[in-house]
Parts: sequence; C-alpha cells; structure tokens
Amino acid sequence: MAKQMWRTYDLKKTYDIVIIGGGAHGLATAYYLSKMGVKNVAVLEARYPGYGGSGRNTAILRSNYRTEEGIKFYDQSLGLYENLSGELDYNLMFSQQGHFTLGHTESGISGLVTRAENNKALGVNSYMLTPPEIKKKLPEIDISSHVRYPILGALYHPPGGIIRHDAVVWAYGRGADKGGVEIHNLTEVQDILVEKGKIQGVKTNRGTIHAKKVISVVAGWSSEVCRLAGVKLPFVTHPLQALVTESYKPWLHHVVVSGTLHIYLSQTDRGELVCGDGIDQYPHYGMRSTLGFMEAFSSHVLELFPILHNIKVQRQWAGLCDMTPDYSPIISPIDEVEGFYVNGGWGTYGFKASPASGFNTAKMLAEDKVPEMIKPFSYNRFRENRLVGEKAAASVSS
Ligand SMILES: Cc1cc2nc3c(=O)[nH]c(=O)nc-3n(C[C@H](O)[C@H](O)[C@H](O)COP(=O)(O)OP(=O)(O)OC[C@H]3O[C@@H](n4cnc5c(N)ncnc54)[C@H](O)[C@@H]3O)c2cc1C
Repeated sequence: MAKQMWRTYDLKKTYDIVIIGGGAHGLATAYYLSKMGVKNVAVLEARYPGYGGSGRNTAILRSNYRTEEGIKFYDQSLGLYENLSGELDYNLMFSQQGHFTLGHTESGISGLVTRAENNKALGVNSYMLTPPEIKKKLPEIDISSHVRYPILGALYHPPGGIIRHDAVVWAYGRGADKGGVEIHNLTEVQDILVEKGKIQGVKTNRGTIHAKKVISVVAGWSSEVCRLAGVKLPFVTHPLQALVTESYKPWLHHVVVSGTLHIYLSQTDRGELVCGDGIDQYPHYGMRSTLGFMEAFSSHVLELFPILHNIKVQRQWAGLCDMTPDYSPIISPIDEVEGFYVNGGWGTYGFKASPASGFNTAKMLAEDKVPEMIKPFSYNRFRENRLVGEKAAASVSS
C-alpha cells in the first residue's frame, strides 16, 4: 500500500497553536514552526489540504512588484522557493523560465518603467524590453500595430516562472508532519471561542479544542472565519477562473501576462497551456466556471497569439480570492482579541508568497513579535492610511 503523506491523529483537547486552513500558507506556517522547534501545533482543514486556492492556482511565481515592501517580501519568497525542492526533498518542478508583463498603453508603460526602476534599486532582476526584443524571445506573439492594443513594450523578469502547485502543498504538509505537526482533514472550525478579549480555542465539527493562539489562514474564506472571532477586516471575496488546454509541443518558453487584456498564460512540462483572466467582477463564493470567462479569455488571447485559433480547451475551474483594498496581504496579530492572528488577503497572487508568508508567520507566532519583513502588512495600515499599493503590479484585474 502507498505510504501516506501525513499521519492521522485523534483530535486532542488542547494545542498550543491552532492553524485554521490547510492551504500552502497554513502548511508552510506549520512547517516553519516545526523547524523552529515549536511543538503541539495542529492544522485544521475543513476539507483536504489544497482544496482552496493552493490547489487551483496557475502557479506563477515572481517578485517584481511595485512597492519596496512588496518587492522585498516577494523576493524573499522567491529565494526560499529556489531551495525548496532540496529542503523538502520533493520535486516541485520549479522552472525559472522568465516572466513578461506586456504594456499596451502609455500609462501602462509608465507603470512598468516605475516597477523596473524600483526593482533595480532593490537588486531584483527586472527590466524593460522593446517590441522587437519581445518578439525575439516570443516569436509567435503579434507585435503589429493594427491590433486593438498594440504592444508598446514589456517588463521582463528572468527569475520569474512556474512551479507544480499541488506538489508545494504536499511537500509542506509532509515536512510539517515529519516535524510533529498534526494535520486534521475534514475538520471545520465552526466557532472561535473568545472570553474577555482573549482567545480560548475553537469549536469544530469534531469537538472543542482549547488553544492560546489561533490563526486564520483561509484566504477566500477569511471574512467568514474572522467573523467567528468577532473581527471585521477589509477582505472581499471574488472568484477567479482559469483553464487548461490540451497538450501541444513546447512552443511557449516564458510566462506571458497582459494587464490591459486581463490575461496570462504559460506552458507546462506536459505541454498544456495554463491560462487565466481577471477576477469575476462581483463578489461571491461560487466556484463555478462560466462561458463568459471562456469567451473573454479566448478573444483576448487571440489578439496576442493568433496561432492559438484552433486550440482545444480541456477543462475550466475557479477558486476564491480574498481581495484587500491595496492588493497587499494582511499578516498580523489582532489587537482586539489577544491570541488571535490573521494571515490573508492573498487575492489572485498569493501562491508565490507561500514560503515567505509561512516563514514570517511562524516567526511571529513563535517569538510573539512581528518580524520587520511583515510589519507593513498589519491590518492597522487601513486605519493609519499607509497602504501598500500593489494593484497595478499584483494582478491582471481592472
Ligand atoms: C484560478 C486561480 C489562479 C491563481 N493564480 C495564481 C498564480 O499564478 N500565482 C500566485 O501567486 N497566486 C495565484 N492565485 C492565488 C493563490 O492561489 C492564493 O492566494 C493562495 O493559494 C492562497 O493560499 P492559502 O493557503 O492562503 O489559502 P487556500 O489554499 O485557499 O487554503 C485555505 C483553506 O482553508 C480551508 N478552510 C476554509 N474555511 C475553513 C474553516 N472554517 N475551517 C477549517 N478550514 C477552513 C479551505 O478548505 C482551504 O483548504 C490564484 C488563485 C486562483 C483561484
């Protein structure tokens, strides 16, 4: 019989730390906690590890964000990803094939140039290319001027690329399990117990658990879980859809993103094109694919790559994204409820952050001190008007 990725346990009455959510962020947090020597930790997952965005994303990794806070954080994450296959002894199929963000308008190009300069100043490899330089690396792309949105330039980021997302989830889970963390599938947190402003524990479908520290790491479900603790944060959940085509011979050797056309695509080692669009325009929790997404994606991608006119789509899917007003995450203790922490707001772009998010969140929980790297991501920034504005750099949404 095949060996299990992680062990199963009876639920204990008490843990020192309870992590709600078994996605890449929850499991990475658990793994780094175990590496820091913290014991008696449980991950409670309502369904199965990877059920959420971590098992549904398009697996694009990069660090060329816009703000100093964002660039440093995502760059730490990319650095951790570079050594992760070896560290976790698992082939994560990380391919640093280079990442293009295309610019089609003057304002778009101006935003990309700002990002190129900010990245250069912080030592991150990302620079502008002209249309003929783009064509050299992407021979199939249409750089003509007669299309609706001609390509005027691109921000190129050589260290960006793709990874096998579910392998990341499994590898972090297995690593956490080896370090003594209990991972409980089918364990839904139905209430968070707070008394006199202090966390007491959680109520689950399998019984009540006492804990001094509880952290919500549930991405698209963040508003719902925070509400259980009486905490209201500015998360708004929108679905994001994606699709995968049949396999074709390798022709696309880089990740390509267009903010103006709201699309992105890459090719896997199996030859499938993995493609996505912007978020569904209105907030909801449905994870259904729509014809509207397929139509919009198809018409937009043909403007860039007319050679795809006969391509066959194999399947479509959707996942939930917890958007914040500035498109940056919230990783923070919650002042109003002692012992309650939140890691969320990962929107359409959080998978790439899993290692840095897990590492810094574990440090925050283990040392009772917020690490410098994630101080800018406190929820208090929305009260204090010091947003970390990443909207133009984080996603392809309008
Ligand atoms: C289609 C799509 C494409 C994307 N593409 C990219 C990309 O290319 N690059 C990138 O960086 N990011 C991308 N993202 C975003 C990325 O997937 C997420 O930001 C990231 O995976 C969030 O990880 P997480 O661990 O925080 O949450 P999730 O993986 O969503 O895990 C949260 C878990 O919490 C569990 N849960 C919820 N409520 C409870 C409860 N009450 N009790 C117990 N458990 C609960 C859920 O079952 C779920 O398993 C994409 C997202 C989608 C949907």
